[in-house]
Amino acid sequence: MRKIAIYGKGGIGKSTTTQNTVAGLAEMGNKVMVVGCDPKADSTRLLLGGLVQRTVLDTLREEGEDVTLDDVQKDGFCNTVCTESGGPEPGVGCAGRGIITSINLLEQLGAYADSRNLDYVFYDVLGDVVCGGFAMPIREGKAEEIYIVVSGEMMAMYAANNICKGIVKFAEAGTVRLGGLICNSRNVDNEKEMIEELAKRLGTKMIHFVPRDNVVQRAEINRKTVIEFEPANDQAEEYRSLAKKIAGNEMRIVPTPLAIEELEQLLMDYGLAG
Ligand code: ADP
Ligand code: SF4
Ligand code: MG
Repeated sequence: MRKIAIYGKGGIGKSTTTQNTVAGLAEMGNKVMVVGCDPKADSTRLLLGGLVQRTVLDTLREEGEDVTLDDVQKDGFCNTVCTESGGPEPGVGCAGRGIITSINLLEQLGAYADSRNLDYVFYDVLGDVVCGGFAMPIREGKAEEIYIVVSGEMMAMYAANNICKGIVKFAEAGTVRLGGLICNSRNVDNEKEMIEELAKRLGTKMIHFVPRDNVVQRAEINRKTVIEFEPANDQAEEYRSLAKKIAGNEMRIVPTPLAIEELEQLLMDYGLAG
């Protein structure tokens, strides 16, 4: 089973990209589990057709320890298995710790058991902060292969570079590695070339360039991935292509983060050269 985590700046498109990629992998015949690791709990709604499922942490709070796997997992599009970790009560507790509580419970309940024949588990992790809490999934070896969603916007690149610093930190003692960058386009000038160069400097590659397309929002309003909503759309093909590239990707590296000056220079050379 491949243990993949998707990181990236908030609002960059982690949840959308994850669910569409998972839909693509599931269509190819893979058994995929998605564990939402964002207190917003919106990592699985497109796979579940908008069905709101109770989060693991809410279930624990309401039912005590007497929880079964069926209480916290729902079947989604193409036999995907969907869970939302949820978060602590606002203002109380550490959200990252909550996520580990939730993953540990899933382990105890046998969610990852061999008998379930999972090919992939995807963690969709809130990513603006690279605090100890949200590094938990990589720190504890829950996720081993990281993909960072990024665009040509400065803050997204800055966040991606920071996430790489987090990976370096935990790679020394553990198994976590960077699998690549996914560019989710914001239609910035020279975006593809700039992210390819960023990837190169980080020691990895841009695994796919996902175009910006309003069909993503149309599908979202209909509570579906693009793959389910408009299977013949070009954007659905883009996500299938990303899914295939992840399936075939064997590159796993410890990244080499950039100094802030180098990152700014990259933006000047590509972004502003327009
Ligand atoms: P995150 O999980 O990183 O916070 P989301 O996946 O929720 O971000 O995406 C934020 C918004 O961006 C969503 O409304 C989504 O529809 C939109 N979006 C994401 N990717 C694309 C894309 N390739 N084209 C158009 N809109 C997109
Ligand atoms: Fe929040 Fe991170 Fe601090 Fe935990 S470690 S309380 S998730 S900022
Ligand atoms: Mg999200």
